[in-house]
Amino acid sequence: MSDRVDLKVGFQCNNFCRFCVQGDKRQLLAAKPAAALRRLLEDGRREGANALVVTGGEPALHKDILEIVRAARALGYSLIQIQSNGRAFLLRGLLQAPHRRGRPNEFGPSLHGPGARIHDWLTGAPGAFVQTVAGIKTLKKLGQRVITNSVITKANYRELPDLARLLVALGVEQFQLAFMHLSGRAGENKSWLAARKSVIEPYVKAGSRRGDQGGPDRHDGGHSLLLHVRL
Ligand code: SF4
Repeated sequence: MSDRVDLKVGFQCNNFCRFCVQGDKRQLLAAKPAAALRRLLEDGRREGANALVVTGGEPALHKDILEIVRAARALGYSLIQIQSNGRAFLLRGLLQAPHRRGRPNEFGPSLHGPGARIHDWLTGAPGAFVQTVAGIKTLKKLGQRVITNSVITKANYRELPDLARLLVALGVEQFQLAFMHLSGRAGENKSWLAARKSVIEPYVKAGSRRGDQGGPDRHDGGHSLLLHVRL
């Protein structure tokens, strides 16, 4: 048993990413019932997990998200990460939970380009870049730990150094780059969207260098900003 539970709360989402692995699942299961999710949280704790990553779809759209986070806290999960597309207006409710104990303590927003042109096109959501950047700024102002996710595609690999520069400027603790998983919508689009690993390598390395120069990870005793690349 892992010490971390990945809780998929349902597949509804307000983005339409061209690399989404979930295909048409959003029509099949928008949101799992809170009672079923609570049982999964209880099972995880019984088996020794103390960290939780809440994913979807877009977990902030789940109508019972605050109740789910509160239940996880009450059950004793010490780390609760919300993996979200990070659009600002969605984070507000989570951050305004009346007691700090009822809030998540880590966020994993996704940013796929250094500007609106690429990010909004990749996510199929006009305005998403501005909202996500605003969301990250809000999180940092509130002292939240932020670990971002970016998917590498043919459309954005040349921009990885600029994206790294932006993420460093936004003060995120860590950024993760991931190659496309080739299923769902990503599988349908792979012939024209998936970039060759040998082609992206120098850009990933340049992004990594930018991350290494990025300054201290304030929550980890002064280490450099970390870059994780999953290829
Ligand atoms: S990749 Fe994530 S944010 Fe994008 S459409 Fe799929 S579930 Fe939504």
